[in-house]
Amino acid sequence: MPESRYSILAIATIIVVGLGGSHCGASDEEQPPVSFESRRMEMVENQIVRRGVQDSAVIDAMRTVPRHRFVEDKYVKEAYGDHPLPIGEGQTISQPFVVAAMTEALGVGPKDTVLEVGTGSGYQAAVLAEIVNQVYTIEIIADLGKAAERVLNELEYKNVHVKIGDGYQGWPEHAPFHGIIVTAAPDHVPQPLTDQLAMWGRMVIPVGRDLQSLLVLTKTPEGIKREEKFGVRFVPMTGEALQNDDSGQ
Ligand code: SAM
Repeated sequence: MPESRYSILAIATIIVVGLGGSHCGASDEEQPPVSFESRRMEMVENQIVRRGVQDSAVIDAMRTVPRHRFVEDKYVKEAYGDHPLPIGEGQTISQPFVVAAMTEALGVGPKDTVLEVGTGSGYQAAVLAEIVNQVYTIEIIADLGKAAERVLNELEYKNVHVKIGDGYQGWPEHAPFHGIIVTAAPDHVPQPLTDQLAMWGRMVIPVGRDLQSLLVLTKTPEGIKREEKFGVRFVPMTGEALQNDDSGQ
């Protein structure tokens, strides 16, 4: 996948300024309602396909998962917008393009098992669940993890398993993983996650402080191959990641 396809600076950030004030009530009422499905199709065309995501399984998954179910009621109208949204507890659901690009970079398929660190709303887990065999996802904030699990159950994603805890140590009972996706940023790659990658498995992880690099790490017989994708801005990884700060990567 040539890097130039992702030439924009993708921002999976927290702060969405002025969301509450952007509605225009009168004209909304005059227009015929646009269905969530048609907003989703538009989102995929304009934000995902047009920006270079090509993997048909990823595109299909983004067309299928009802993103509006993973946001708070007050943001439902913004669910298919080209930006992240708050999900409570100071956390966010990532921009749709970032979800799609990270999923494509993971390079996983129907037989694979994936670990996600940072369940958040559960949306990324649902996108993965459309593509792979099993998804194990860990969330450190209990209320978020429980809410995500509830929505995933309502939508009958039976192949997603949510755990409340610190994802720094991974989920060794279900390792090795063909893919590991990390949606909160540590300032170094946690060694336990590298250890839990299957041979030729990939980890997609934002690394750094403030503005981060999205790294794709592949486990090969010769060691870990490292590729840098583009700049992103994720919430910091908390828990053990903050104690094991070595800033070296
Ligand atoms: N993937 C999510 C989604 O689809 O909504 C978005 C994730 S949000 C950008 C990052 C999440 O990582 C937050 O919910 C945060 O609480 C969680 N997080 C931060 N540090 C963590 C850790 N050490 N272990 C597990 N989750 C963590």
